[in-house]
This record gives sequence, C-alpha cells and structure tokens, in this order.
Amino acid sequence: MPRLLVATLNPAKARELSELLGGLPCELVTPPEVGITSAPPEEGSSLEENATAKALHYHRLSGLLTLAEDSGLEVEALGGAPGVRSARFAGEEASDKDNIRLLLHRLEGVPPEKRQARFRCVMAVAAGGDTVGLFKGECPGIITEGLRGHAGFGYDPVFLVPGLGQTFAQVSAEVKNRLSHRGRAAREAAVFLRRLLNGSGAPATLKPSVGTP
Ligand code: IMP
Repeated sequence: MPRLLVATLNPAKARELSELLGGLPCELVTPPEVGITSAPPEEGSSLEENATAKALHYHRLSGLLTLAEDSGLEVEALGGAPGVRSARFAGEEASDKDNIRLLLHRLEGVPPEKRQARFRCVMAVAAGGDTVGLFKGECPGIITEGLRGHAGFGYDPVFLVPGLGQTFAQVSAEVKNRLSHRGRAAREAAVFLRRLLNGSGAPATLKPSVGTP
C-alpha cells in the first residue's frame, strides 16, 4: 500500500485531515510516524507560499508523496488580518485563547453586520521532488462577540457559520468537515490524489491544478 504523508504537526488538523482523506487507497502517515518532528519556518507572505514550502520540506525529508496545508482567518473589518499570521496573531508563542482574546478585543464595538470573515485553506501536494498540485477552499462566516462551543480548535469558538447559526465549535466534526475551508480543499485534493495513486498520471507529468470551493 503506498503511503501519503499528511504533513502537519498540529494534532487537530491531522485529525481532520485523516477523516477527510481516509477513503484514499493509501496509508496515511504523520511526520512523527516517519521520524520528522521539525516544521519549516513559516516565512511566506501568502498561504500558497507557506503550503508549498511545507509540502516541499516534508517531501524532501521523507521521500514520500506529501500533502501539506496552510490556513488562516481573514476578517473584513481588520483588512484581512490575521490572515497568514493567524496562528501567531497575538505573538510567536500565542495560544488559541490568546489569539481569540486579541481578535475579540480588536473587534470591540464592531456591530454584527460588519463582522464578516472567512477561513481559507491552501493545500499543496508534492511528489517526484516537486509540488504537483495546489488546492484551495474557503468558508464564509461571522465573528461572534463571545465564545460559543468547545469542539474544534483555533478560532472555531468565535466563527459562526450563518447557514447553521452555530460556530464550528458547536457542531460535529462531520458537519465542520462538510462545510469548512479544509473540507472543501481536501475534497479537491482527494480527486487528484486518487488519480495519482491509481497511476493515471506520473507526478512529473501532472500540471499543478487549482481547485475552487
Ligand atoms: P497554520 O496553517 O499552521 O499557519 O495555522 C493556521 C491557524 O489558523 C491555526 O493555528 C488556527 O489559529 C487558524 N485556523 C486554521 N484553520 C482553522 C480551523 O479550521 N478552525 C479554527 N482555526 C483555524
């Protein structure tokens, strides 16, 4: 059975990705399972750059078919911040709680109709020494004024999905995966990976492909 390296050291992301990619004809492995415990520095100025850098880093270290992702929250009233800096919004060592506290503080006094945001996710697939595919997903939402729910991770407790009337931290993993930026990107990536794994194209000959939500 071929192996696919699901290249994240974030356990919450790894869980979501294993649920989303579990149906592929391959064994999913994580970096620690193949002896890799260090992440590359996130130096890119876009999710695309970071996802590509991560995929190449882990692919070159492992030699395995690799999928990496970079994701972030963009808030309209903050001009798209925290964006690519979502994990480090309140500082290099910031926790999810610190980041949420700062976000709510920056949005103090902003009325509900001006609290639009979106999650974005970019996934990169690396094989044959290079990146061979790039897939994107996004999910629109509203930033709440307080925390709601305990599931998920990151900004989930303050990210309200309008169609649901609930935050991502109030819904099951199945519902989140169906609607989320990561779910949308992963479904595009899965179609590509299935083709690759079934041998209907050599990695080097497949053109980078961009999926849309
Ligand atoms: P990175 O992709 O490792 O740079 O981290 C992305 C950051 O964006 C995470 O640490 C979270 O703070 C946030 N984020 C990305 N996806 C989600 C999500 O599905 N729910 C909540 N927060 C998320």
